Amino acid sequence: MRSIVVVGGGISGLAAAYCIRKYARDNGDDINVILVERERRLGGKILTENTNGFIIEGGPDSVISTKENFLEFCKEIGIDKSIAFQKPGSSGASIFINGGIKDLPKGMSIGVPTKIAPMAKSSIISPLGKARAFLEIAIPRGKDGNESVKAFIKRRFGSEVYYKIAEPLVSGIAAGDPKFTSLRQVFPTLAEMEDAHRSLILAARRNRKIANGNGTGTQSPFITFGNGMQELVHALIGYIGKKNIMTSKAITQVTAEGKGSGKKYVIEFDKGKRIRATAIVFATPAFVTADLLSGFDGISGILRKIPYVSLATVSLAYKNKDIKGSIKGSGFLIPHIENRQMNAVTWSSLKWDNRAPQESLLLRSYFNNSYSIDKPLPNSSQLINIAREELRAMAGISAAPLLEIAYIWHKGMPQYTTNHSTIIKEVDKWASDNPGIFMTGAWRNGTGVPSCISSAITEAKKAIDYVNTSD
Ligand SMILES: Cc1cc2nc3c(=O)[nH]c(=O)nc-3n(C[C@H](O)[C@H](O)[C@H](O)COP(=O)(O)OP(=O)(O)OC[C@H]3O[C@@H](n4cnc5c(N)ncnc54)[C@H](O)[C@@H]3O)c2cc1C
Repeated sequence: MRSIVVVGGGISGLAAAYCIRKYARDNGDDINVILVERERRLGGKILTENTNGFIIEGGPDSVISTKENFLEFCKEIGIDKSIAFQKPGSSGASIFINGGIKDLPKGMSIGVPTKIAPMAKSSIISPLGKARAFLEIAIPRGKDGNESVKAFIKRRFGSEVYYKIAEPLVSGIAAGDPKFTSLRQVFPTLAEMEDAHRSLILAARRNRKIANGNGTGTQSPFITFGNGMQELVHALIGYIGKKNIMTSKAITQVTAEGKGSGKKYVIEFDKGKRIRATAIVFATPAFVTADLLSGFDGISGILRKIPYVSLATVSLAYKNKDIKGSIKGSGFLIPHIENRQMNAVTWSSLKWDNRAPQESLLLRSYFNNSYSIDKPLPNSSQLINIAREELRAMAGISAAPLLEIAYIWHKGMPQYTTNHSTIIKEVDKWASDNPGIFMTGAWRNGTGVPSCISSAITEAKKAIDYVNTSD
């Protein structure tokens, strides 16, 4: 029987296995799919916990709904009715700067200010910094097609806007040091705005006109689900079927045996067990796939070129009456120049309905080691203490929390550095020379959940074509 093994039960592996099962069902085909996950739990970075009436996310808490036909995918898997939009009035973010939390100027677009009047009124940037930022309208297009995010924003808006406003936003989104982050890979919209309109301020003005003309543009594109991100995972597990899923099984090595149409992949588990498959889809982090494919020439070294940053989130809950300071908007960001350990805070229960019982506040704070990638993050209890101390110092929250929980993701986020597209070309070349092995995951075509799903489906379709033509 033709079979495809999918390695890794995060959203990428679940989406790949779903696509193969759907193809088999829709076409009455007997392709067998087996999803193998190392942990007991499926979902990988998607981890939702329901505790004492709180819905706590350890990994992603929302997705950009406008990406990769994500809404259509939700409909296809039957969870569109559960989609939850950001609460009205919770869209404004703030920034911790010079000892206080200040509102970001209105009109920010992916980390850069695109409206002159709100910027002119903002007290975050000095008069000189504002004058430099407004010169953006006259700055010519860049010539470096492989620019980093930091170089791009400093070139267009100047240093002050970069360090005080843009850096915490872009480094938060990419969870990486913007000095190395590829503009075109991670923020293609900014690059496209410059390509098409030269100035980002002018581009945003023109785009706003179009959005206003359509009557769109006010609703935040971020969405989640009524019971949290786990709904996505549960729906996919339901479709794939438990009999096609193996959990608590770590794959240790993959080898090939036979040639031509008789070629099979041998998948070995930690306790010496093996299974054979016609094709294999890796949906594991790049460094894990590198280890599993170490028996094949050439690929491990390519995959290991992708650096990974560690991340952590600390969720804390309080009684509303214990919160003294002003808590509004979606949260606040902390620029690197403030020399704090925490990167950002989201007021989760202000941003999303149903996250906390009445009269209480759920928040989560973020940490990463993107500026010192070789230094591990503190452990859970240290992170909780740091988060509590930083919240006391920055937001005046000193009460004892009702709940405290940390999630640490060691090497949890791939970095799309300025040589990423070259690495992916090398991966593609290797894959075309080694038919039957397919690779996907957050390192392939974007780290966001919609991008992981779309990349996994692309690779799963290639695997289906391969098994159909290799008989
Ligand atoms: C803290 C945090 C916040 C985030 N926030 C957002 C957000 O708000 N919105 C958004 O869109 N994205 C967000 N992301 C990014 C997004 O969650 C991830 O990129 C995505 O979930 C990765 O999915 P994946 O399936 O590619 O990898 P993973 O989720 O890492 O899954 C890989 C799986 O492979 C398994 N595995 C590893 N080794 C083996 C082995 N040897 N054998 C078998 N199985 C193995 C692992 O156990 C794991 O389950 C966030 C990520 C983090 C860490």
